[in-house]
Amino acid sequence: MKQPVATPFPRPLHLHILGSGSQGNCALIEGPQGLIMIDDGFSRREVLTRMHDLDLNEDDVRALILTHEHSDHVSGVSVWVKRFDGPLFASSGTAEARKYLACLPFETFMPGEVLEVAGVRVETFPTSHDVVNPVGFRFSCNGDSIGYATDTGTLPPGAMRLLADVRILALESNHDVPMLRTGSYPRYLQDRIISERGHLSNAQAAEALPQLVTSRTEHVIAMHISQENNRPSLAVRALAEAVGAQLDDELGSSATLDRGSEKPALRIRSAGQNRPISIF
Ligand SMILES: [Zn+2]
Ligand SMILES: [Zn+2]
Repeated sequence: MKQPVATPFPRPLHLHILGSGSQGNCALIEGPQGLIMIDDGFSRREVLTRMHDLDLNEDDVRALILTHEHSDHVSGVSVWVKRFDGPLFASSGTAEARKYLACLPFETFMPGEVLEVAGVRVETFPTSHDVVNPVGFRFSCNGDSIGYATDTGTLPPGAMRLLADVRILALESNHDVPMLRTGSYPRYLQDRIISERGHLSNAQAAEALPQLVTSRTEHVIAMHISQENNRPSLAVRALAEAVGAQLDDELGSSATLDRGSEKPALRIRSAGQNRPISIF
């Protein structure tokens, strides 16, 4: 009989990703007091449908926090808040960047500030993107932690520090550089995506991964995968190779790093644009 894998510490945090990519982003951190919504780039109806698919309840959303003001991250916010009275958090640059955001009662912070949201410690860090004050997050609660960074052209030192040694790491793996360079996008757009204030490539995410993953890390999720310039299998393969994980099947849709019966395995997979997933 297979021995159950030892649980080194409790897991009070979970990550639910409703969708990730340039057509819309929304994720939810599940903590002791309910759900913290990260970004809202979908219609209200779409958010509710996807939450329902994951067995989540709208009434459990306690707060909303934004990474940045690009429409694939905020297009649903103004409608969502009409029937939501929990706190809204955004960096001061993000909250003021759009008229329809500036009129909402955001509690603003500077990238680098630490917040307490619905019983969860939220450490913010600056990312590098072509907007005013973009941020990523490290969520912590009772020894459990989730790192979250998308829409960043580089991983600055603060990001590397706060994304390291988390149990669940959601990390942008936006494009495959050869696919982008030989693809249909005009050159100026390719350059923007590749720039330091663009998006993280598979190779960049893979290069960072060995410094971020520790024996505590159980899940790596490749985020914000381009539908034009990447494939989920390419992202998973690049990340798997970086840490010596084995692909689970020929399709390369996921990979596992087995650490023996003493320690939990590391699982690598991707988040899709239209495929909500829960990571427990
Ligand atoms: Zn985006
Ligand atoms: Zn963006």
